[in-house]
Amino acid sequence: MILFDSHCHINDKSYAQDLPEVMTRANQAGVRAVMIAGVDRHTARKAVEIAAVHPNVYTAVGIHPHDAIQCGSQVIEELKSLAMANDCVRAWGETGLDFNRMFSPQADQEACFSAQMAAADELDLPLIFHERDSKGRFYEILKSDGPENRRGVVHCFSGSKEEMVKYLDLGYHIGITGILTIQQRGEYLRSVAPLIPDDRLLIETDAPYLTPKPQKNKFRRNEPAFVRSVLERLAELKNTDPDTLSEQIYKNTCELYGVTPSP
Ligand SMILES: [Zn+2]
Ligand SMILES: [Zn+2]
Repeated sequence: MILFDSHCHINDKSYAQDLPEVMTRANQAGVRAVMIAGVDRHTARKAVEIAAVHPNVYTAVGIHPHDAIQCGSQVIEELKSLAMANDCVRAWGETGLDFNRMFSPQADQEACFSAQMAAADELDLPLIFHERDSKGRFYEILKSDGPENRRGVVHCFSGSKEEMVKYLDLGYHIGITGILTIQQRGEYLRSVAPLIPDDRLLIETDAPYLTPKPQKNKFRRNEPAFVRSVLERLAELKNTDPDTLSEQIYKNTCELYGVTPSP
């Protein structure tokens, strides 16, 4: 089985002690490549450092909607420079809207989101979107702001079927996390995820968060190796062969991020 963890945060401090072991376990589970999503300036640099010493690790730069309050033009310029100077940077994000916890005011989140889409367009990078409880604003901005050929993934999809269809119509990919495997929390997601066309699917851990089942019973911290559980559950729901599905999703991810991992 060949897997690509399309979204993780292995630059998080919880991996400071054992990242080499985490990467070895990922390889053993069939995870050939990973994308480290960006959330702020500091972690973007840390991600680039990790990519310099681990093969097939790609990174993104971006300001998470939670941190939108610190998203000035100087920060965007700094991230743009980092992206241009480092070949491992293959996406912009995560960026978007999160009205669930409102760590940054709505106006700041929306301004930060638009500014980052403009930066990604300028650098011709695909986007990694984070959307939670935005009450339609995310889609409105997405639709009204920018070119139609923009590429990207709505990561950790948690919206309605109607929203999913709208994102697909705009040409975006959908990222599925371990929530799919969680009994109550994943119930609705399990009803809509099988409707996503195979060629628009991505799988992810969002590690260290959202540990899937069955690992959830044993490990608090998620890690890229566990993306295999997401793939297996997805194949089960789609009633399809896991190896074939994993190959298709791997291909989708490589194409979206424009990467060719080494064997
Ligand atoms: Zn996110
Ligand atoms: Zn994330």
